[in-house]
Amino acid sequence: MLYSAIAAVFDRIEGTSSRLEMTSILSDLFGTLPPAVLRDVVYLSQGKLHPDFFPQKLGMSDKLVLRAISLTSGFSEDRTEKLWIKEGDPGTVAEMLIKEKKQMALFSEPLTVQRVMKGLLLIEETDGKDSQERKMKLLANLLHDSGPIESRYLCRIVTGRMRVGAGSMTVLDALASSFADKSGRPEIERAFNVTCDMGLVAETLAAGGMDAVRGIKVKVGNPIKVMLAERLPSLAEVMGRMEGRCAMEYKYDGIRVQAHITKDSVRLYSRRLEDLTDNFRDIASLLKESLKGTEAIVEGECVSVDAKSGKMLPFQEVTHRRRKHGMEDAIKDYPVRIFLFDILQRDGEDVTQMPYLKRREMLASAFSGTEGIQMSNMRIVSSVQEADAFFTEAVSAGCEGIMAKSVSDVSVYRAGSRGFLWIKYKKDYHSDMIDTFDLAVVGAFYGMGKRKGRYGALLMASYDPEMQSYVTVCKLGTGFDDAFLDSMPGLLDARKTDRRPNNVDSKMVPDVWFDPTVVLEVTGAELSLSPIHTAAAGVFKEDAGLGLRFPRFTGRVRDDKSPEESTSVAEIMEIYGMQKT
Ligand code: AMP
Repeated sequence: MLYSAIAAVFDRIEGTSSRLEMTSILSDLFGTLPPAVLRDVVYLSQGKLHPDFFPQKLGMSDKLVLRAISLTSGFSEDRTEKLWIKEGDPGTVAEMLIKEKKQMALFSEPLTVQRVMKGLLLIEETDGKDSQERKMKLLANLLHDSGPIESRYLCRIVTGRMRVGAGSMTVLDALASSFADKSGRPEIERAFNVTCDMGLVAETLAAGGMDAVRGIKVKVGNPIKVMLAERLPSLAEVMGRMEGRCAMEYKYDGIRVQAHITKDSVRLYSRRLEDLTDNFRDIASLLKESLKGTEAIVEGECVSVDAKSGKMLPFQEVTHRRRKHGMEDAIKDYPVRIFLFDILQRDGEDVTQMPYLKRREMLASAFSGTEGIQMSNMRIVSSVQEADAFFTEAVSAGCEGIMAKSVSDVSVYRAGSRGFLWIKYKKDYHSDMIDTFDLAVVGAFYGMGKRKGRYGALLMASYDPEMQSYVTVCKLGTGFDDAFLDSMPGLLDARKTDRRPNNVDSKMVPDVWFDPTVVLEVTGAELSLSPIHTAAAGVFKEDAGLGLRFPRFTGRVRDDKSPEESTSVAEIMEIYGMQKT
């Protein structure tokens, strides 16, 4: 399969903002590809060579890519760099210069998808002495046989800028429409949710149809999209929804990890699929050593504790474990415990469809006792009074609140979904502030007065999974200390874009736009109708969306959350609804 055909499809997708059109363009292409090539094309469409949970090591610097462009196009490095300063994106530079290149390559070898994949994998694997030079030459070798559009996407992939606009949900829609029908869509999504590997699902579907997709099960080594909780504003409503009886667990304020354990290996993943094994290597070893049986996938919250008393410490303490360097010291200085709350696989058996109480029993018997590994504190409650007493205990033990979990027979583990089988109730709900929101930064405004020369405020957005777009909720200028103000460019500037990103829907125009990547925790006084913000636009009132009044940064950068995991528009609408009751 020629890479030029794939690049032409990426180009057409980039040119539209209609999700339906993207789906139809992709689905026409998918149907023509052999299964293994389809797998690669699916990864490439997301700017990746592997599934999302693989550490992405391709990243070449812009400068290195410019050298490869200069080498292939024959234009000087100076000219290439000047154009890059103007355009900001090496992909556009490559496209322009390769278009302008007068001389055609003499011994051009056709650029197939397989050759592109092989070349990019080689670039990724190249390290050691002279690795930069060798990476540059490998890229030049691919560019040598590329037309303008092909080179645009090659350069965007190697610099981590590939965002044609078709997100994972659009790819799943296109797979369903190529190989199944609408009724197959939920099962295709389920297979993705339990493997986090869209390429694998695509290849399985193309090769074996829906029966093969149904056979995809959770597996050690493939992180599973986490199950999430709905929220309700009072314990009375929680108990009502749970029909008077449920399990309640402490809601620990730490970092969620999903542990994939066998007798000889263990990997810990964050909820955004980062590998945290190194950060919690003490916990990882304990889990491996004390596992009974052959293998398991379990979930729990890692919480900092006081070394002497074992008392739980605030969330800020455990974030020291997320640093990149000096892990040995962090492990000594910030002891943690894991509070396990679920099991998804045991001894090779997928147990996600087992009811909650059965899973809980299985979890309790999966490890031999050790102080570092504890079961989350759980109690079955049958009245609002009992729920209230448990909530008070949880908060005085240092927790954020409680998680209510259904004990009905249908209380399965629903990978990747937020529903009422789990309901969270937090202590914020008692205070003046309505709740905390995890919002993605999509823009910044330059500061004035004391903040002159720095970013003074940020444009914050929530995610709309239906539309796969970010909609604005507030302009955030409060709660930043000097250290945070200083750190903003380092945190955000790598994602600067010269125009509003395609997937951001905003009426406000900031001084600088960013591709949504950084998530901040924000609290506020209330949600109100707003003519300027685009969250839930037109839902409650024509020409108005929902905005957060008096927003304040809590000091928490949610680097455990991906921007798609920001508080969703549906949640914001729910909170607005609760406020009014
Ligand atoms: P939130 O981030 O506010 O949506 O709350 C959901 C998060 O609470 C989960 O992703 C876990 O990290 C955390 N959590 C803490 N304790 C529990 C528990 N007992 N069961 C499930 N999740 C928990």
